[in-house]
Amino acid sequence: EAKGLGRNRCRFFRSALQEEATRRGRIANELRGAIAGDQFRLFYQPIIDLGTGEVVKAEALLRWQHPQMGLVSPAEFIPVAEQTGEIIAIGQWVFEDVLRQITAWDAAGLPPIRIGVNRSPVEFRQSADVLDAWAERLAEHGLSGRRILVEITEGLLVELSDTVRDQFERLQGMGIALSLDDFGTGYSSLAYLRKFDVDFLKIDRAFVQGVERGSDDLALCEAIIVMAQKLGIEVVAEGIETEDQCALLVTAGCRLGQGFLFSRPLPADAFAAYLRGAAQHG
Ligand code: C2E
Ligand code: MG
Ligand code: MG
Ligand code: MG
Repeated sequence: EAKGLGRNRCRFFRSALQEEATRRGRIANELRGAIAGDQFRLFYQPIIDLGTGEVVKAEALLRWQHPQMGLVSPAEFIPVAEQTGEIIAIGQWVFEDVLRQITAWDAAGLPPIRIGVNRSPVEFRQSADVLDAWAERLAEHGLSGRRILVEITEGLLVELSDTVRDQFERLQGMGIALSLDDFGTGYSSLAYLRKFDVDFLKIDRAFVQGVERGSDDLALCEAIIVMAQKLGIEVVAEGIETEDQCALLVTAGCRLGQGFLFSRPLPADAFAAYLRGAAQHG
């Protein structure tokens, strides 16, 4: 009886694994048609000055609406795209769509905020020549690199290859800021921060969500904020969901924040409306 149960459970796990592999395979195949099929959309999540409530930046987050599979999360399809190499084309699409959007918002008279794009380590590992195309696109749109910020992950700093270093320099040479994403979850070490001149650091939401009076997570956030201040790096707290978390982070000296408390990632039109509302209400 117990044995039978065990066997059933194994069968269950095996079929769950098979299903997952099938879905992964399907995603890998279908991703190739996503750009041509106009299935990608960028959503925008505001980054707020916690002192004034002003929207100072936004993060562009990719959404994939598949005609049959429905909305697929980037947490699911980005790792697949990294494996198949499709991430290169996707990264280019994201960059160009962000420039198109900034140009449209500028024309509509919205405040000229800076937009952050996530860039995968896989994109950084290819030749730095890709960034020539970025410079060309910026010039075509008549935009300064100062309107863009690239979010990178800690793994890149550890890797520290010449190609990666070269790309950091090229990006910053164009005026594009670097923001260290998900800080605290990877190899995050002070030594790496010293080697690279990153402009922003985003405290991972895993820590932010544990922030309450007297908690270890609050102590960690405080330490990160003090350290960053001394290194001249601006801190953004990611994933703020409650007023309490917000208040404690402000007291700890954190100036910028992002999270569901302010807004979820929004489609471009809804984001523009949010930005207009925030501009009016101060
Ligand atoms: P990330 O760059 O760390 O983005 C922040 C994630 O946290 C987003 O998830 C966002 O929706 C979510 N988030 C923001 N505030 C809150 C909050 O208050 N509570 C909770 N529970 N979550 C919050 P999303 O959009 O699902 O993206 C997941 C990850 O996928 C991103 O993490 C990023 O690593 C990757 N990604 C998204 N778009 C792109 C892209 O265009 N290119 C690349 N290479 N990666 C992307
Ligand atoms: Mg990010
Ligand atoms: Mg993050
Ligand atoms: Mg993340």
